[in-house]
Amino acid sequence: MKHLSILGSTGSIGVSTLEIVAAYPDRFRVVALTAGKNLELFARQIRQFSPRIAAVASEADVPQLKELCHGLEVEILGGVEGLIAAATSDETEMVVAAIVGAAGLTPTAAAVRAGKDIALANKETLVTAGHIFMEMVARYNVRLYPVDSEHSAVFQSIEGHRSQDISKIILTASGGPFRNTPVEQLAQVTVRDALNHPNWSMGRKITIDSATMMNKGLEVLEARWLFDVPVEKIEVNIHPQSIIHSMVEYVDGCVIAQLGTPDMKAPIAYALSYPERIATGVKALDLTIFSGLTFFKPDLDKFRCLGLAYRAINDGESMPAVMNAANEIAVEAFLNGEIGFIQIADVIERTMDRHQAHDLKSIDEVLLADSWGRDTACTICGGLRN
Ligand code: NAD
Ligand code: MG
Repeated sequence: MKHLSILGSTGSIGVSTLEIVAAYPDRFRVVALTAGKNLELFARQIRQFSPRIAAVASEADVPQLKELCHGLEVEILGGVEGLIAAATSDETEMVVAAIVGAAGLTPTAAAVRAGKDIALANKETLVTAGHIFMEMVARYNVRLYPVDSEHSAVFQSIEGHRSQDISKIILTASGGPFRNTPVEQLAQVTVRDALNHPNWSMGRKITIDSATMMNKGLEVLEARWLFDVPVEKIEVNIHPQSIIHSMVEYVDGCVIAQLGTPDMKAPIAYALSYPERIATGVKALDLTIFSGLTFFKPDLDKFRCLGLAYRAINDGESMPAVMNAANEIAVEAFLNGEIGFIQIADVIERTMDRHQAHDLKSIDEVLLADSWGRDTACTICGGLRN
């Protein structure tokens, strides 16, 4: 029986994780759940999975959640301290880190310090704090399993191989809803167009990140830290069918790939049950229905965010945290109708241009860079609105 804390249980990854947990009551038990805003769904999850701890991001939501959970035996907590308590509870063996954004960093880092294994969906943890986080993973001797489908694919393609034999990691990308949209038309696309992802159903922030391809930029940085490979050896291929989830090329010219129907339940289940494989209900792959699997290089003039991510890591340690923060602010502003789609990249680039990159020595220093990035990006967004 594996005891789990699920951070961000009401999100897309959180809900899929709980579906797997529900299918395997003899294998997984939920010790703690956390959520941001959707209190009704959260209360239903608490009723169904009977965690000992349930934490909401905002202290102000605690009374309402208590009311919704009236009569249930659960400790209800709020704020960052509550999220940390959920992530570090004595009984927990593995933490599923599925909060969206840099908000996931503090509780996930706390879980590592408490010696918990991590199933990592929250890529922003590695984007913002990669070298510090990986050093903590080694120091506290915890295991880190990728949930992101591309990184799960690389993880599966790398098993049994020596890292010095890797010549290249090839991350695949669907290309999102604007893969075929001419660059000059991007100025007119709407929030609705951008949320209309062709292959994956995900939370709103990552769906916009997929449309700008910042998601792939974040994933390049995530892969850099997870697999200790320099970004020069990490390439992105657009692969519209999303069947090959990523590949690893070795020095002898052999390439190993992982394939499957695009469904996050497969990588989530592998992270939860590693090294075993469990049935997930994911539709079996029938390659004969595809007339062809295609691959091409991304257009960096069109998908500027992808280039900004490569730039960020070369600029210096604090730049990816600043870039990520600016992206979160810009995506939020776009979703609120305050800026246009192509201004997302403008906001990020201008924020990065104003930042003097420096070294980062602790999670606290990462959080400072993050908040500098947020403040600066807010100011820049404000200027664009006027
Ligand atoms: P989502 O928006 O659907 O869910 C996010 C969860 O985090 C929700 O439970 C929400 O209530 C909670 N949350 C939001 N803000 C919070 C805050 N400030 N403090 C505490 N909790 C907060 O997001 P998602 O699509 O499930 O993605 C979660 C993470 O997994 C992201 O980092 C994303 O990049 C990554 N990821 C998602 C997918 C996917 O298919 N959805 C695939 C790969 C990686
Ligand atoms: Mg991914």
